[in-house]
Amino acid sequence: MQFQWYPGHMTKAKRQMQEDIKLIDLVIELVDARIPMSSRNPDIDELGKNKARLILLNKSDLADKDASEAWMEFFKEKGYFAVKVDARNKGCMKAISAVIAEACKEKTERDRKRGIKNRPVRAMVVGIPNVGKSTFINTFAGRACAKTGNKPGVTKGKQWIRLNKSVELLDTPGILWPKFEDQQVGLRLALIGAIKDEILNIDELALELIAILTEHYPGVLHARYEVEEDQTPANIIEQIAVKRNCIQKGNALDYTKAANLLLEEFRSGKLGKITLEFPVTVA
Ligand code: GDP
Repeated sequence: MQFQWYPGHMTKAKRQMQEDIKLIDLVIELVDARIPMSSRNPDIDELGKNKARLILLNKSDLADKDASEAWMEFFKEKGYFAVKVDARNKGCMKAISAVIAEACKEKTERDRKRGIKNRPVRAMVVGIPNVGKSTFINTFAGRACAKTGNKPGVTKGKQWIRLNKSVELLDTPGILWPKFEDQQVGLRLALIGAIKDEILNIDELALELIAILTEHYPGVLHARYEVEEDQTPANIIEQIAVKRNCIQKGNALDYTKAANLLLEEFRSGKLGKITLEFPVTVA
């Protein structure tokens, strides 16, 4: 699902989130493991202050393992709990339950001292469009979940998904908008396919991807397309067009076809597990 944002939409989403956040103990923020910074919105730090914070590096099946480890350290140092996940994979969920318990330990302890026993932790999922929020909620909740319905004092229409004895999840995720006014961020979102391709220049996007790949993942383009990498990105896309027979009518090379092919193969993981930004470069 790709999104079109306009100011009214953003204001409404933010107001809704401010309301929802009052009801919860823990913010579960999904980011894309391939661009953990560019897929965040810094507003969530203001919105979620005083709450326990868990960051899930989602789509980690497509990201570079070492880079994901480095990002986990980065976030942990900043006081977040962090786990890398593939939201489609049920096997990842057990580890998350354990971290949720850990993240909410203080709250549980406070409850206990006040004589409140077994009040479940309330959590909500937030993140930019397409980051995997619905997938995560579905996988995490599984089939066994029961919706708890409206409760006294809770905004009408809110549904809570009872995950287990100790956790309840708001069934609708909070949608954050990315910082698209930052060109670098827009570019990276476009590379992972989170922004509509029609509004972008595919040829330029492919050249940017080639520049990142030759710098951080030397050998990857050579392995996949048998191209010489010690060339300019423009030359490399030309080589890819030749190798993959991207030809227009009249026998000219079709660079846009080659660019589309490269982007599609990157996005679907065919080039391997690749991360586009690293903690040191964005710090
Ligand atoms: P939402 O807009 O944040 O709710 O995102 P969705 O849950 O609709 O997911 C967007 C797309 O990403 C869907 O095609 C999902 O199948 C895919 N997706 C979600 N999580 C993962 C993941 O961990 N790995 C991969 N490879 N794809 C995922």
